[in-house]
This record gives sequence, structure tokens and C-alpha cells, in this order.
Amino acid sequence: MLKTLLKKLVSLLSEKWLRWMVILWAGGLFLFCAGLHIGNEMCYKTEVEFWQGIVTVQEPESCAICGNSRGLTFHAPCLLDLSTGNLVELAIYEPSCRYPGELSENQSLDHSVITFTANGDPMFIDRLKDIQRCVTYLPGKEGEPMDPVHYCRNCRAILARVATTGYVLLDLYNLDEIEAYPIEEGAEYNIRIYSVSVKYSLQGTTQGRYLTGGVPPVRFSM
Ligand SMILES: [Zn+2]
Ligand SMILES: [Zn+2]
Repeated sequence: MLKTLLKKLVSLLSEKWLRWMVILWAGGLFLFCAGLHIGNEMCYKTEVEFWQGIVTVQEPESCAICGNSRGLTFHAPCLLDLSTGNLVELAIYEPSCRYPGELSENQSLDHSVITFTANGDPMFIDRLKDIQRCVTYLPGKEGEPMDPVHYCRNCRAILARVATTGYVLLDLYNLDEIEAYPIEEGAEYNIRIYSVSVKYSLQGTTQGRYLTGGVPPVRFSM
């Protein structure tokens, strides 16, 4: 008698326990799905907002790309930080002292320069007889999103076709025919008389340094 009662009690308990387990599982699953759904919705919203901004954000008085307030010609390809509108000409040639925006008639091929881009990235320029190049190091792959306030709508369209975060390479020699190129690992471009390549560089020789150093910078040479 006592045994059967005990058995019944145990079976009842285990049944209840099972029911609770099912309820908990269902609840957990529901919350999990709801979380996923909300996350998706948020991603979708921010992406829609980004593209709405590209179209609707008011145009600046002077576009960072085609406004060219200085009236100077960009002879060499330029590097643009999409989030700040900072434009850097990868100028390997010597500018003219007499005619601003023109190249010097006599290019002295006997010096190397170390300088910084507008974003504070180091830039090395070699003007030597056997090699003329410009090398700059960019922060890793993950870049800040494009801020449309710096660009006119026409330029936004040109840029967004190529990239929406980080940097792009631009040929601004002819402002009526702006060409944009994505910064991609291993990319090689021939832009008029310039050749540009994008490489990942491992600064430092030991693997340990590479692993602890975070994302390796992009080497950008010309
Ligand atoms: Zn523009
Ligand atoms: Zn000079």
C-alpha cells in the first residue's frame, strides 16, 4: 500500500517535473527566437537608416571630393577616408613652386620623404632614380562607415558603389570622370601612369608579434 502510494507520488512528481521542463524549454525557445527577431530587425533598421542618410542628408557647401576648393589638380591617385572626408594625394612627384597644382618641370630624383596623411597614418615617399613610390599604412580592415555629410549626392553614388566603410582609392585627375577603386587585399590597379597595389604587411618578423599586434595594417604602395 505504502509502496504503491510512493510510486504514484513519484510518477506524479516526475510528470509535473516534465511538464515544467517542457514549459521552461518552450519559454526559453520563445525568448531566444524573439531575441533573434529583434536583433535582425535592428540590423535591418540601421542598414535602412544608413542608405536613407546617403540619399537624404543635406549636401555640403563644398564636396570633399569634387568641390576642390583649392582649385588644384590631383595628379596622382588619392586615398579617401569615407568617414572623415579626409583626402590624401599619394603624390610621388615634386610639385611646382611657381604653378600651384602643377608638377615641377625638373623632378629631382635624389630624396626620400617621411610624412603623415591627414588621418595621421605614416606615408613614405621615395623619389629616387631607380624607384619612385609612395607607401602608406592603413588601419585594419574594419573601417568606420561613410559619413554622407562630406559629399555631394553624385559623389555619394560613386563611392557607395565601391565601398561604404573604411577607405577608397580615387582618381581625381579629371573631376568629370571620377573613378573609385576598392581597397582590397591583393588588389592591383593601373591608374593612368600609376600602378597601385594593396597588400597586407606584417610589421615585425616574429609570428608572436603579428598575433598579438591585432589586425595587420594594409600596405599601400605605388
Ligand atoms: Zn562631389
Ligand atoms: Zn622647388
